[in-house]
Amino acid sequence: MVKNTNETNKELYQCEECGFHYVEKEWAEKCEAWCKEHKSCNLEITAHAEENK
Ligand SMILES: [Zn+2]
Repeated sequence: MVKNTNETNKELYQCEECGFHYVEKEWAEKCEAWCKEHKSCNLEITAHAEENK
């Protein structure tokens, strides 16, 4: 999991597996755990990603 900031300096956590960004660390951790195990994304998790808002 990578912590970085977007263009408005908001802190975001990135799933290293799929690249989606999350405001909450918890979601990024869940996403990464899921992505690693299933080699695919969980739509219920990625729904919380910044990209899907
Ligand atoms: Zn992911």
